[in-house]
Amino acid sequence: MSVLNLARPELLKMAPYSSARMESAALPLMLNANESAWPPPGDSGRGLHRYPEPQPLALRARMAKLYGVDDEQVLLTRGSDEAMDLLVRAFCRPGHDAILINPPTFGMYAVCAAVQGATVVEVPLDDAFQLDEQAMLGAICANTKLVFLCSPNNPTGGAVPLQVIEHLAGALAGRALLVVDEAYIEFADQRSAATLLARHVNLCVLRTLSKAWALAGVRIGALLADTDVIALLRRIMPPYPLPTPSVAAAVKTLEPAGEATMRQRVAATVSERERLRVALRELACVRDVLSSQANFLAVRFHQAAEVQRALVAAGIAVRDIGRYPRLCDFLRISIGTAEQNDAVVGALASTTVVA
Ligand SMILES: *Cc1c(COP(=O)(O)O)cnc(C)c1O
Repeated sequence: MSVLNLARPELLKMAPYSSARMESAALPLMLNANESAWPPPGDSGRGLHRYPEPQPLALRARMAKLYGVDDEQVLLTRGSDEAMDLLVRAFCRPGHDAILINPPTFGMYAVCAAVQGATVVEVPLDDAFQLDEQAMLGAICANTKLVFLCSPNNPTGGAVPLQVIEHLAGALAGRALLVVDEAYIEFADQRSAATLLARHVNLCVLRTLSKAWALAGVRIGALLADTDVIALLRRIMPPYPLPTPSVAAAVKTLEPAGEATMRQRVAATVSERERLRVALRELACVRDVLSSQANFLAVRFHQAAEVQRALVAAGIAVRDIGRYPRLCDFLRISIGTAEQNDAVVGALASTTVVA
């Protein structure tokens, strides 16, 4: 059975927009897209007066190789945020269908659902911030089209074991898509769920260049999924989503030298994360630090609001995550350089706020 049985039927029937780029091969004189005949000043050969390739083949091939999937299983998107939005729009009928999430988790899934008019079913993580698989399966109903799973999870930092992901994908087959958001997987000590794609057509994996690859400003992410899902999302996606300068920056960074730099920095971040965790635990103002597979730590303080004020006074911004269920008194601290992390510990050690 195709996963498209789960999609909004009206979209399958809709005639998609057909762009000039799609309708014509590259010819010597391109007068089919109402582009300017001249490049902008200072263009230096970039060709910014031309609409970009809708799915740049070289970048797609590079990312497919990086993630260990076929080129056709990759959809390049404006950050993984766009992929979440496209999935909700393609699979959830407003006022009818639902997504399932495991709070405390990334806020964008529920926002995408709210914008689309889809219901959000919440199955909270357990007391140890682990996934409650039985409760999730029990909460799935006929209208639940997408199950979002964040691994490693933002903001708690824990990863979902691959066996659990595989078991969930199997249990949801024919009923819902399992969307695994791997924004932080490069920092984790387990493999990507992309390795399971060949066996599960209802599995989708979200990857991004925003975190480990240091390209948050470039806005490029990827959806790894069954080719039917990708073809469907392309029907509802804007025709030219990826800006030419962003594609060029991504291609450059993904070259071998850039990859080597990324790997060094990921290793440094992981080692700093563990060092910072130990250092924070020794501070009087800290109650607990959750173990993390990502590039941040969720830290429980005795008096989080006062601690945050003290950090702001020291010129340090951290994220208040106290509004999430069961994260009252937690702050989320991104891992910086060794010097930056020392500054955090120094500022916390000199605060007078304690138990
Ligand atoms: C940062 C982050 C992303 C990345 O979003 P982009 O749109 O690719 O920048 C995705 N998911 C989670 C959970 C994140 O924390």
